[in-house]
Amino acid sequence: MAEQRPGLMRPFPVTTGVSAPVAAPIQPSVVYAAQTPDALDAQYEGRAEGHTYAREGHPNAAALAARIAAMEGCDAGIVTGSGMAAVAAALMGLLKAGDHVVGSDQLYGRSLRMLREELPRIGVEVSLADATRAEALAAALRPETRMILIETVSNPMLRVADLEGIAARARGVLLAVDNTFTTPRALRPFEHGADIVIHSVTKLLAGHADATLGWVGARDAGLAERMESFAVTLGLTASPFDCWLAERGLLTFELRYDRAEATAAALSDRIEGMPGVTRVLYPGRADHPDGLRAAALLAGRFCNMVTFEIAGGRAAANAFARAAGDAGLPMAPTLGDAGSTLSHPASSSHRGLTPEGRAALGISEGTFRLSVGLEAPEALAGALLRGAEAAAAA
Ligand SMILES: *Cc1c(COP(=O)(O)O)cnc(C)c1O
Repeated sequence: MAEQRPGLMRPFPVTTGVSAPVAAPIQPSVVYAAQTPDALDAQYEGRAEGHTYAREGHPNAAALAARIAAMEGCDAGIVTGSGMAAVAAALMGLLKAGDHVVGSDQLYGRSLRMLREELPRIGVEVSLADATRAEALAAALRPETRMILIETVSNPMLRVADLEGIAARARGVLLAVDNTFTTPRALRPFEHGADIVIHSVTKLLAGHADATLGWVGARDAGLAERMESFAVTLGLTASPFDCWLAERGLLTFELRYDRAEATAAALSDRIEGMPGVTRVLYPGRADHPDGLRAAALLAGRFCNMVTFEIAGGRAAANAFARAAGDAGLPMAPTLGDAGSTLSHPASSSHRGLTPEGRAALGISEGTFRLSVGLEAPEALAGALLRGAEAAAAA
């Protein structure tokens, strides 16, 4: 894990007379004037720097993309209008009819939907496999497999993918890794064999639940160019204002991440002792099914997410959510915000599955996922205890 954090380095290139602003400027212009047709030629042919039209790129997107690329340790990446736009740029921008893709069976819900519903429609075949078992995933590879898509840590069971085992077996197949949960603070997938890295910047990187953005980068410049071309053609590109907010959020990213992670680790032990709690999942705990892999792969970083289960079914879950919400811990389907949020997978992210399908993943009506933010740990523990007591009484 590099101690140098080039993604956060100033300066900004704008000057005003003999002074320069210390905060990043925002440039909302949709279009850019060129001096001559020759100048435009030079720009399009890469002999001169410049912008032409905001869908094709603008200074705020370029600045944000460069910062995230530096954090992930790659040269080429683009910002997109959402995390799903980044997933689309990787899958739909690089795959064609006749290709086969292997995805983790625990991917983010919309990513799974893209695999199951959108890719088959354009002639791409899809297999799903368990990314915690590299052998099982490798067994799904075919001669026409072009890409593997996994997430480093899954939602909501926080299972840790066998990234290195999969990379070792990928053999010429593009390995795309959604690093949203772990972030470059815990893991830099390019250092472990990934070809493509994806982020929902909406989550921990931007970090304030006020900008919807994605990022996708590639080790190979040609792949990055293909994804960029696809994103520009389909209009997957991002607004300057959102990029500006995210760049501002990045300034505090490491502080936020470290604080949230430390609180999550402490809370995971507190939650275990609360009334009615039947199970706690946190990758830093010895009883986590992938605890050893997490310790090795994530270099002692275990994320800001804690998943737990309470007894008593839906009635208890309702009581828990109501009481925790009243105590200041809202149930809201996001993660990585400065404010902590609870999610209830059975009624949100995993509502499309049957109860049996959820049970196979380990999700019950009593399963909650907590995204830990920046509040005082004591206040969060208090809100969770209020929830647990209400659930036990329900
Ligand atoms: C939220 C999320 C996405 C999608 O990101 P959006 O910004 O909401 O489009 C993709 N992957 C993971 C792991 C996510 O958590």
